[in-house]
Amino acid sequence: MKETPADIAPGADYMVRASAADAQLRAFAVTGRGLTQTAHESHGTSPVATAALGRTMCGALMMADMLKGEDDVLTVKIDGDGPLHGIVVTADNHGHVKGYVHEPDVWLPDRVPGHLNVGGAVGRGSLTVIRDLGLKDPYIGRITLRSGEIAEDLTYYYAESEQIPSTVGLGVLVDTDGSVLQAGGFVVQLMPAAGEEIISRLEQNLQGLPSVTEMLTDGCTPEQMLERILEGLSPVITERTEVSFRCDCSEQRCERGLILLGEKELRDLISEDRDVEMKCQFCGRRYRFTPEHLRRLLPLAVPVSREQLEGAEEDPAADDRHF
Ligand SMILES: [Zn+2]
Repeated sequence: MKETPADIAPGADYMVRASAADAQLRAFAVTGRGLTQTAHESHGTSPVATAALGRTMCGALMMADMLKGEDDVLTVKIDGDGPLHGIVVTADNHGHVKGYVHEPDVWLPDRVPGHLNVGGAVGRGSLTVIRDLGLKDPYIGRITLRSGEIAEDLTYYYAESEQIPSTVGLGVLVDTDGSVLQAGGFVVQLMPAAGEEIISRLEQNLQGLPSVTEMLTDGCTPEQMLERILEGLSPVITERTEVSFRCDCSEQRCERGLILLGEKELRDLISEDRDVEMKCQFCGRRYRFTPEHLRRLLPLAVPVSREQLEGAEEDPAADDRHF
């Protein structure tokens, strides 16, 4: 059993943030076994789907930790032509993440024995990062997928879309019964002032680095992963955050979705005279509404349909939203 720091609940997943080489480097590392297991149980994901979702969630948590505002939210959306049909993950900067894959029941032969074929399951396509900073328009960056293995794609995203030289490592190890044995990752980034010596030392460290799942299996904590990555670069841990899978869906949010359907559609549903069930894509939770409940919402509905509302303004992030 790994030692958990005093400020983190025993056995909980957590993330650390570090600065190194007099702030010429910054780095993040996270363990996500528990949150990936929760996602696996919520969505019934196959091993390759669990790995794809777990890697994306660990990456998104570290990316969201870079957000500044209390209410800022980051979404990583992967659209690929592989059998997963895409991944959507949303994280805030308080250590909460939620996510799903469009097709959770994907089975593929391993890439090489013991290595789940995440790239094959994702396929070719694009990776979009949406940062909702509470402004009118979210900040959106998009790249073409490199390998679909997620870590390499995020590395490329930072280079291409944000011009921040970065290395991202992510890994999920799934047991033969489908449960999650290990999950986690790291991000290390060069700040604009980083000198040649620092860069070559970092490269040297990264070259000899075992995979994330090997380090986690060896019992490495997030702090120890960063100690290896930043060896000889005087790392200082600056922050520690507990992380977990958490969805913010609620009956109230579902009601809002039903109200937005518009008066006509709501009347149609009521006339069917049976319960309406809504399922949250992010966590799989189900909400049931009786015809009586729907009738109470009717006075709040506007006499136009959702199609008319959506047609009025093109919203690139619309399909990432709940309901
Ligand atoms: Zn939910």
